[in-house]
Amino acid sequence: MGESIEIASGNGILLSRGGVEIALDPKRKREGAVVSHGHMDHLVPGALMTPETLDILRVRTGSHEAEALGIGEERCWNGFDVRFHSAGHVLGSVMMEMEGILYTGDFSPEGSFFSPLPNPPQGVDVLITEATYGERDFVFPPKTRVLEDIMSWMDAVSAEGAAVVGAYEFGKAQEIMNIGNKLGVDVFVPEAIANISKVYNKYGADLHFSILDENTPPGPGSLVVVPNSWLRHPKGKEKPGYDMVRDIRKTGGRSAFVSGWCAVYKYFRSMLIDAQFPLSDHADHHHLLSFVMAVEPKEGLIVHSRKKSGPAFAADVEKELGIKARIL
Ligand SMILES: [Zn+2]
Repeated sequence: MGESIEIASGNGILLSRGGVEIALDPKRKREGAVVSHGHMDHLVPGALMTPETLDILRVRTGSHEAEALGIGEERCWNGFDVRFHSAGHVLGSVMMEMEGILYTGDFSPEGSFFSPLPNPPQGVDVLITEATYGERDFVFPPKTRVLEDIMSWMDAVSAEGAAVVGAYEFGKAQEIMNIGNKLGVDVFVPEAIANISKVYNKYGADLHFSILDENTPPGPGSLVVVPNSWLRHPKGKEKPGYDMVRDIRKTGGRSAFVSGWCAVYKYFRSMLIDAQFPLSDHADHHHLLSFVMAVEPKEGLIVHSRKKSGPAFAADVEKELGIKARIL
């Protein structure tokens, strides 16, 4: 038997053994880092990541500094054998398997646009999971239904004016653009979303879009996908994006916000919107429980979440599944 692996939290989730260490999703650049996906709260240079995430790193930070490992491939990294599995969260997102330890990163059991369904490995000793939506009242409707609802809304709006959708710029934005392409409407996005969408196209997506000029609001029948922040009421500051949305709505257009949080909270006061949709690329409470059951970790579960949802979910796992669970 080799030395056992210690699991702790610090600058990332730290796995150490015999004086060597790797860091999963560290907040800051460091040696031995492994990055699960390209959302900004996970993305640091100099780490091991998928080629897709490396391209996202390049367009979002300008850095090319990283080592690429594809989904399904294995590599020894700072003394640990690391293997990547799809996480279904965003393009290039992965779960990481390290010698009996599986770390989920952010994941969605329903998959997402260009991120295939997760396919966790067998024989896991310790499962380390996210629990963003780990509380019982976090329940998402089926994703296919949410996407159909968004499509119907866009279809109804487009007869009167432009449809504006505020979405997280990596992942949800492309999912919404894909719906617009399916409906055959003209899709407009700001440059930051366009650059990320080009990475999707490099990996086989077929997104069609034009760059948005904030000073010339697109007319009826078009879809405009913008970052969430554009829909938030400005507090005295100048916000050209917000002004454009306001002008579109004055001429018959409508706006909507898509986020998993829409399943729990209402955003009609804090944002300039006419509709909201609970589109999520995370697992909800039920998904999380089912996932733990499917993986059946032999030694137990570790939930990494500082929020209230982490302890709540760990308690549910112990009670309902009889699997030992602790918080990191
Ligand atoms: Zn994420």
